[in-house]
Amino acid sequence: MQLLDGKKTAADIKEEVAEEIKLLKLKGGKTPHLVAVLVGNNGASITYVNAKIAACDKVGMQSTIVRLHDTVTESELLDKVEELNNDADIDGFIVQLPLPKHISDKKVTEAIDPKKDVDGFHPWNIGKMMLNLPTFLPATPFGILQLIERYNIETNGKHCVVVGRSSIVGSPISNLMSRNSYPGNCTVTLTHSRTVNLKEITLTADILIVALGKPEFITADMVKEGVVVFDVGITRKADKSKKSGYKLYGDVDFKGVQEKASFISPVPGGVGPMTIVSLLKNTLLATKGK
Ligand code: NDP
Repeated sequence: MQLLDGKKTAADIKEEVAEEIKLLKLKGGKTPHLVAVLVGNNGASITYVNAKIAACDKVGMQSTIVRLHDTVTESELLDKVEELNNDADIDGFIVQLPLPKHISDKKVTEAIDPKKDVDGFHPWNIGKMMLNLPTFLPATPFGILQLIERYNIETNGKHCVVVGRSSIVGSPISNLMSRNSYPGNCTVTLTHSRTVNLKEITLTADILIVALGKPEFITADMVKEGVVVFDVGITRKADKSKKSGYKLYGDVDFKGVQEKASFISPVPGGVGPMTIVSLLKNTLLATKGK
């Protein structure tokens, strides 16, 4: 079994991004500037946003957090989005999801200027992705593709099973894995909560991408020998023995599944760091595309 080390791969990519930013500045270009809008006090969201901002610092990218109270109205948030759309100094921005219940994720996502949508969630960018046109790929699927490339994983003709059909992970990665390119050219089965006999399907997977948010859901008896596993899930469970007060769990029972896998990504240290580095790459692309 070979570990798909997202932490190490992301560190390598960060060095490459830092080098590109240095060159861009030497040529008189501007410093890329990423803004993260954070609404409310969701612990996981605060952790994710802080990690994204720390990554920007590491590669010499400018970053700003805009914090809004969870009582902010939808129209106030849409005004903020409009302000960021019109601010020439800002190359890309994200609105960290989930948003409070009284605000529509959809409306906010659609209000973001597609040229600054470095999360790649705007329908315009999703459409371009579907047509295999250059665009910002959603950060987590983009991170998985980069892991596949860096580890030279064969995808041509393989059966890729995706568990979970969310619009930010499962659906886009199933599209990307079936494209006529590398990574791609897989035969893809997209599964979800209504799938009948899930185990029968996962047992046929050459590549298994799991994003459902249920800790250790995929067990060793559900996979075949030699499978390549990408575990996207992140669930926090309270754990007093940890300094943070919680432990992170993936959607895959790592201990059992690693015995059969040829490659497997751990949680933490797998897909998570790759998601962050993909956001940096998209922001750099947004800056260069100006
Ligand atoms: P969502 O909650 O939006 O979607 C979950 C999906 O899983 C749904 O499509 C659902 O099906 C499906 N599902 C639920 N139960 C089952 C089941 N028993 N069998 C098969 N499918 C099932 O999840 P996200 O994609 O947003 O996130 C998934 C996980 O990934 C979470 O733990 C999240 O924290 C993590 N995540 C990690 C990231 C990273 O950077 N590493 C980035 C984004 C997310 P249905 O559609 O029928 O309801």
